[in-house]
Amino acid sequence: MMQIYNSLTRKKEEFKPIEEGKARIYTCGPTVYSNAHVGNFSSFLMADLLVRYLKYKGYEVKWIMNITDVGHLTDDNELSDSGEDKLEAASKKENKTVWEIARYYEELFMNDLKALKFTPAFKYPRATEHVNEMIDMVKELENKGVVYETSDGVYFDISKFKDYGKLSGNSLEALQAGARVEINEDKRSAFDFAVWKKLTGKNEAHIMKWESPWGTGFPGWHLECSAMSKKYLGDTLDFHTGGEDNKFPHHESEIAQSETANGEKFVNYWMHKSRVVVNNEKMSKSLGNFFTVSDLIKKGFSADAIRFTFLSAHYRSKLNFTEEQLKESQKAIDKFNDFIQAVYNSVISEKEAGILEDVKIAKDQFEKGMDDDLNMSVALASLYGFIKTVRKKLDTGISQYEKDLVINFMKTLNSIFEVLDFELKKEKEFSGEEQNRISELIEMRNKSRSEKNWAEADRIRDELIKMGVKIADKK
Ligand SMILES: [Zn+2]
Repeated sequence: MMQIYNSLTRKKEEFKPIEEGKARIYTCGPTVYSNAHVGNFSSFLMADLLVRYLKYKGYEVKWIMNITDVGHLTDDNELSDSGEDKLEAASKKENKTVWEIARYYEELFMNDLKALKFTPAFKYPRATEHVNEMIDMVKELENKGVVYETSDGVYFDISKFKDYGKLSGNSLEALQAGARVEINEDKRSAFDFAVWKKLTGKNEAHIMKWESPWGTGFPGWHLECSAMSKKYLGDTLDFHTGGEDNKFPHHESEIAQSETANGEKFVNYWMHKSRVVVNNEKMSKSLGNFFTVSDLIKKGFSADAIRFTFLSAHYRSKLNFTEEQLKESQKAIDKFNDFIQAVYNSVISEKEAGILEDVKIAKDQFEKGMDDDLNMSVALASLYGFIKTVRKKLDTGISQYEKDLVINFMKTLNSIFEVLDFELKKEKEFSGEEQNRISELIEMRNKSRSEKNWAEADRIRDELIKMGVKIADKK
């Protein structure tokens, strides 16, 4: 049984898939107007961990991560819908076409995903390639009478969706009491959000534009995720993930649109990644603590160390990201690798050392941790314990069967961590002829030792080392 903390109900719930044995997951992907920073990736890694663990448990997973390449406005997080399109702003600043900006930063993002060994999603749909689906959804919202047209766009009337605020707590009443937004006189309420923007005001010269029943324009950011998740995953999703910052207004608005248009519950389990801080400060360009994946790799940190740092803390705890921590992560990875090396080099014994039981205990504890809302600290503790126990047994020798058992167990977990470099640690392979020669030399050496001819025994040992065979004399 797997428990997931559902941000919607604010409690841990047992995961029950919509379709037996299958899981549909949607992740709000990047807005491709600049280089994504490590905080963004920590949120995507939470989704990656969820995907991998569900696969580990035998689920068939369909994971969609979108690419926002239009419609995300500079002020979208303030609910005013009055800002400039982030991509168009970047295009002016960098003196590139808006399409060049979109494809350039998308490519960088894809390279970073690869560097961080993400499991590939089923698809990375681009918003600009799904505008027809978005227009269809606005039409549906129009049929349902929840949107209205103004001089600069089409807006969702949040007073028509009584559940508005159920995810973030920002109901219309709460918003009216607190938030301060720019007044747009055409809007019925300052808190209504745009599903379609017309080419007026700051967006008059918007380059990415499409024809629609409401005039030429472009889609609202929240609408994009509602339309793309419906197309690839259906009306109801098992999981929807994103950063804590996405909760409001983005996810709240996605719920209002999808549930109104489809007449179905939108998402069964909402998962949000806590914000990442750097040296206890908010990550920002002005503070100089804004790191991208390539910045860190240039500084000499491995992609594995970055991945491990983000995965090792629980996704709902606030992660304080420091270079010190990256170094610690590298040490942990080295420890895993040393362990595997020691397993490969261990002496084969006739007797079994009881490792089957150790694997069972570690596997149970690992799964217990992961089943409890992906609690990585518990999952990792089980592995450290396993390594400690098995290491002691390696010196006295383990059976070939046990050796394979440990390697297979670590390889299975490797698909979740992707930090254990097995490829380089393989035993050297010898031809039949070489194997015969090795056996012959070992016998000769044993004979020399029994005759106390240490010089000859050492000479044979050196010859074996030259062939790539290390001999260790143990109990
Ligand atoms: Zn989204």
